[in-house]
Amino acid sequence: MIDLDAAYLSEEHRMLRQQLRRFIETEVRPAAPAWEEAGRIPPDVFRRMGELGFLGLSMPAELGGAGFDTLGSVVFGEELGRSGFGGFGAAVTDHADIAAPVLRRNGTAEQKARYLPDVIAGRRLMGLGVTEPGGGSDLVAMKTVARRDGDHYILNGQKTFITNALSADLFVTVARTDPEAKGAAGFSLFLVEKGTPGFSIGAGFRKTGWLCSDMSDLFFDDCSLPAENLLGPEHRGFYLMMQGIEHERLSIGSQCIGLAERAVEITLRWLKERPAYRRTLWDLQAVRHEMAAISADLAAAKLLVYHAAARKSRGEDARLESTMVKALAPERLKAAVDRCVQLHGGLGYMREAEIERIWRDTRPHSLGGGASHVMLDEIAKLL
Ligand SMILES: Cc1cc2nc3c(=O)[nH]c(=O)nc-3n(C[C@H](O)[C@H](O)[C@H](O)COP(=O)(O)OP(=O)(O)OC[C@H]3O[C@@H](n4cnc5c(N)ncnc54)[C@H](O)[C@@H]3O)c2cc1C
Repeated sequence: MIDLDAAYLSEEHRMLRQQLRRFIETEVRPAAPAWEEAGRIPPDVFRRMGELGFLGLSMPAELGGAGFDTLGSVVFGEELGRSGFGGFGAAVTDHADIAAPVLRRNGTAEQKARYLPDVIAGRRLMGLGVTEPGGGSDLVAMKTVARRDGDHYILNGQKTFITNALSADLFVTVARTDPEAKGAAGFSLFLVEKGTPGFSIGAGFRKTGWLCSDMSDLFFDDCSLPAENLLGPEHRGFYLMMQGIEHERLSIGSQCIGLAERAVEITLRWLKERPAYRRTLWDLQAVRHEMAAISADLAAAKLLVYHAAARKSRGEDARLESTMVKALAPERLKAAVDRCVQLHGGLGYMREAEIERIWRDTRPHSLGGGASHVMLDEIAKLL
């Protein structure tokens, strides 16, 4: 795939890429098949990533982070994607790049001091609980409620499909606090620790892919939460959540690019070795054209990811570009990887083949974090 490092990245970004690539080649790829079997990433993997400084990349230095801009998160997402394990990328970014930044942006000094050092060190894992059984796309229809009762809030409701639900011990969630408010008004964000009375976690889901990232429901049953766990101003939760949306979309988009790069790499290797018609599959022009077209298509998606991240890193408005990324990159990934499976022949459908796992792991990116159709709606509003 095209190399955009010289055009977009600083020396620090490039060093980060090298460090991540080394870590993933030596400590993730060899171990991750066992994590897939277990349906969990062991806690010491997060602690190791914390030690290496990978879990606080977008956190400011004064909080113990590395202070990288959005391009740093794109390098992070791309390299996690290049591991070829979509579940690994999802679990790690859900913690470090999606849930933790909501706390960083909206937490009081006391909340940040209480939680962020452990979050950045990988001693405490985070999840973000937004989607509900009644529907995830129509967010303002959320039913979970929080009622103020003295110095507590009482939460009732359910969240579903929550990544890291079984492993995490700290969640950011959102509930309606003003029953009279209409639309996006009247929601608030909360920090919920595992073990809070009335808060429980389901048994987990059996997913098709992303096998090493765990997922479950969150149940709030008269959950009594200290008022100090309100995150940000009351009734402003929906808007506060949306402030991180560009970052989240670029994180997902960059993981798509990384997964696609890995798929292309292993498919090219396969095609150049696979004997056919006394030569190799790569000697067939139709096959070469197919790979050329896939590579050009993915290059365009990658360029959009980097362009959007560069705008965001410069402090410019990147709503349109990052929404286009979320609409485009997962769809291009799915199309490309499906063709790579085809080019692997029967082997592409076997559990033994890496491309088979990548294929299963490409499916969620166009669903989670805003389905593709919803992204198209949002793009249209910005045109
Ligand atoms: C692997 C995975 C991990 C996830 N992790 C998390 C997590 O950590 N936290 C969390 O809160 N949620 C998580 N989710 C949930 C995810 O965000 C939702 O699945 C997503 O928002 C879609 O909501 P839904 O599943 O309820 O689908 P629905 O809202 O019921 O939509 C179903 C389909 O209808 C179509 N549709 C919806 N709206 C429109 C529209 N406006 N125009 C046209 N078509 C439309 C789309 O094709 C959409 O896919 C995860 C999901 C998956 C699959």
